[in-house]
Amino acid sequence: MSKTEIFDVCVIGTGAGGGVMIDELTSSGFKVVALERGKMWANSEFLEHDELSSQIRKQQLWAPDFLESFRANENSKAIPGHYTSVAHGVGGGTTHWHGAAWRFRPDELKVLSTEGPLKGANLADWPFDYQELEPYYQKAEAAFGVAGNAGENPWGAPMKSPYPNPSHPYRTSSFTIAKAARKLGLDVFSTPTAINSQPYGGRAACMNAGMCGYYGCPINAKASTFAISIPRALSSGNLDLRTHSLAYEITVNAQGKAKSVLYFDSNGDTREVFAKQIVVACHSIGSAQLLKLSQSAKFPNGIANNNDMVGRNIMFHIVSMVQFEMSSPQHGALGPSGMVAIDNFHASDSSRGFIRGGAILESPATSPIVSTLGAAAARGK
Ligand SMILES: Cc1cc2nc3c(=O)[nH]c(=O)nc-3n(C[C@H](O)[C@H](O)[C@H](O)COP(=O)(O)OP(=O)(O)OC[C@H]3O[C@@H](n4cnc5c(N)ncnc54)[C@H](O)[C@@H]3O)c2cc1C
Ligand code: SF4
Repeated sequence: MSKTEIFDVCVIGTGAGGGVMIDELTSSGFKVVALERGKMWANSEFLEHDELSSQIRKQQLWAPDFLESFRANENSKAIPGHYTSVAHGVGGGTTHWHGAAWRFRPDELKVLSTEGPLKGANLADWPFDYQELEPYYQKAEAAFGVAGNAGENPWGAPMKSPYPNPSHPYRTSSFTIAKAARKLGLDVFSTPTAINSQPYGGRAACMNAGMCGYYGCPINAKASTFAISIPRALSSGNLDLRTHSLAYEITVNAQGKAKSVLYFDSNGDTREVFAKQIVVACHSIGSAQLLKLSQSAKFPNGIANNNDMVGRNIMFHIVSMVQFEMSSPQHGALGPSGMVAIDNFHASDSSRGFIRGGAILESPATSPIVSTLGAAAARGK
């Protein structure tokens, strides 16, 4: 397609949201152009990613040339650096995710109705309920080959069908955690994980080598839009994938309808691509940034921001980790990230003094340098 032609859809970002959207659209016959600020990976590159370069120096998946900035408050100076682990590259966060594939429970989709309103918090219900969502969970789990035991988690969302793959085998640390948890009367189950426990969907079974979460999978046993959705979309012939393409503005026509996307190509030159529909899938932070940058006479505060809500109410996925030493080898570095989980503390419990709760997961195995730094910090060294 020539540069001046109008695509059916322009999708910005090729991660979890964008990648799936691209696959669905191209398989339905739509002509799609995808803008991705990062690169197209080769699986062999994932073998070159080690703990020092990835975790400590934040290169590769974190894109060394692309700096974020951070400031403690609006009066302080922004300091450039790497602060988040948001991805760059085809597949977005699904390339280096851990693959934990939980479903929302029905009550999590209706937090305002079930818990609110709450002073100081903007609680909201999702505009659909679990019943409406469930067929899409089934579709996504089938596409990504989720491994797990349906119904094993008594606190989890109800499931009408089993997972497409059996759960992964426990490693030593999983047995240790399971034994200890059961002693405390807690319910232990296999974490539903979008990693092949057996050959599935034309992809190999996991070989349990470790270096999994935070890293790409060299054999595509870990599901990602890089491994599944984008290759399928490319083979349809309906996708024009433009990597190293950083979108910075969505333009609108006189009626206020999105018309084109302006982006920087790999040389830093400005380019424009036209489409009838534009999908913004640049993860939570990048999408808000792009919408706010897309200012015009019609939308002086950016697109979709007439209510000044874009970029507000961001929800972080808060993780607290506990690390400890055991007297016998636990082989925690083998296999995919945490194999067992406990969900007894997920629902609200008024005796705790706050709403909602959380899950406890066997941690993704920490690697030697990160573990040592963590242990040293804990000892104040
Ligand atoms: C290390 C890690 C582990 C995780 N583990 C899990 C897990 O086990 N289970 C789970 O459910 N979730 C996990 N997550 C979270 C999950 O990966 C994200 O929630 C999910 O990928 C978000 O999807 P998204 O489409 O919104 O954004 P992303 O997947 O991040 O995709 C956004 C894409 O847009 C591109 N982009 C951004 N801005 C622009 C721009 N201006 N122009 C062009 N392209 C742009 C990015 O390069 C990226 O490819 C993990 C995340 C990380 C970082
Ligand atoms: S542990 Fe399995 S899924 Fe993870 S990177 Fe290795 S082979 Fe891939």
